[in-house]
Amino acid sequence: MKRGLGRRLGAACLLLAAAAPPGPPGRERVGAEPGTRTLVILLDAVPYATMARLTQPGDGGGLFADFGPPVPLISTFPSSTSMALAGILGAAGLELSPGYEARFFDWQLGRRRGGGPVSYFRVTFPWREYFDWNRKGPLRNALHAARPVRAGIRELAGALAAFEASGRETFTIYVADTDTAAHLFGPTGLDPILRQLDADLRGLRRRQGAGLSVVLLSDHGLAGGGRLRNVLPDVLRAVAAHGWRRRDRLADERDVVLTPYGLVSSFEAYAAPSQAAALSRALAGVEGVDLCVTRDEGGWSVEGGDFALTFERRTGAAGDAWRWSLREGGGGLAAVLGKAAPAAGWVPDSELLAATAATEYPDPLYRLAAAFAGVKNPASVVCSTAEGFMYGARGTERAARWTKGALRWTHGALRGDASLGFLMTSSPSAPAAAALRFDAALPLTMPAGSGITLR
Ligand SMILES: [Zn+2]
Repeated sequence: MKRGLGRRLGAACLLLAAAAPPGPPGRERVGAEPGTRTLVILLDAVPYATMARLTQPGDGGGLFADFGPPVPLISTFPSSTSMALAGILGAAGLELSPGYEARFFDWQLGRRRGGGPVSYFRVTFPWREYFDWNRKGPLRNALHAARPVRAGIRELAGALAAFEASGRETFTIYVADTDTAAHLFGPTGLDPILRQLDADLRGLRRRQGAGLSVVLLSDHGLAGGGRLRNVLPDVLRAVAAHGWRRRDRLADERDVVLTPYGLVSSFEAYAAPSQAAALSRALAGVEGVDLCVTRDEGGWSVEGGDFALTFERRTGAAGDAWRWSLREGGGGLAAVLGKAAPAAGWVPDSELLAATAATEYPDPLYRLAAAFAGVKNPASVVCSTAEGFMYGARGTERAARWTKGALRWTHGALRGDASLGFLMTSSPSAPAAAALRFDAALPLTMPAGSGITLR
């Protein structure tokens, strides 16, 4: 582990001092002692609330009874897979993703790219190569999407068998079928996969003995319930009404590139730097858009439907701190920030994380800032949709409607339900944490001798 991580971790992990009595020295890391086997299973899109429900004794079924309780893992913003996995695995030295989604704007080429079956293999998303077990390729993805619950159960059984056969000290598994099942059937659609995983893991741990340490985690949450309305038509109307032209390239100052792909509750716009502030204001004014963020000199600006604020970060030896000022209005994120730290001035990063972790907007400023720093081709404007809304390609929306009916569940937004994944470990030395920031998950759970080198 390189230097610097300790300081970052100090701010990034939120330990509940009252609930966790100080352990013996040297036990501050979760996980088994060196020399034992570690199995890491990343289940895409399993919400914290789902794991909390299923681990409850009684009605919940008391699954994963020999694990510590699940801890909310606060995702990146956008709370989507390619952002969140790069954020989580960054601690292990993994590179950033080229874009927020498979379709993105490439600043070097000056055009939109990705999102097709050929580009899937041409454009490198480092997280896809990271795992020891990961289903690969658009064809297999399509086959699995037809019956995600059954496919997910089979996928996990195959992955666990591969781990046992490998004899490797550390083994990492990524399962995407949980994401498909969650989008199609909502959180309860995940129950059969998680019940089977619980049974499979009990068998595996019986065979492997006490030397096996298992870490279960997910990359983001899930939000919805009702029929989600696509904001894309209104976004396109707003772009045109303000005199911008939607293009696939940025050739002129008035050109705007949009990258709808999939059906999510966040979106990005790319434009000349001179246009970003006005574009952010225009997009935030669209019905169904909760807020939009841009970078400006020295900080960031957030436009909400009924507020506007700017914020800055100060980095220093004593740890990072945040300061914000409300330019107009209130409500939404502005209200959450006002409640978290009513006094003006710098608020330590760890304090702001603690004060906002359980609110409607968990850890908002760190994540809004990382919406630009966390990807190789950052957008000019990144927006979060309001409850009941989504953003996406019309073709995907139609295909979803024909096959399963209108989409009701998705993620991507800054809000809590879309943002909260989970982390739990079978290690008895796990400290009780109230919440974990995405980039603190690995450093806190990897045993020193696990074979995963942390930077
Ligand atoms: Zn995901």
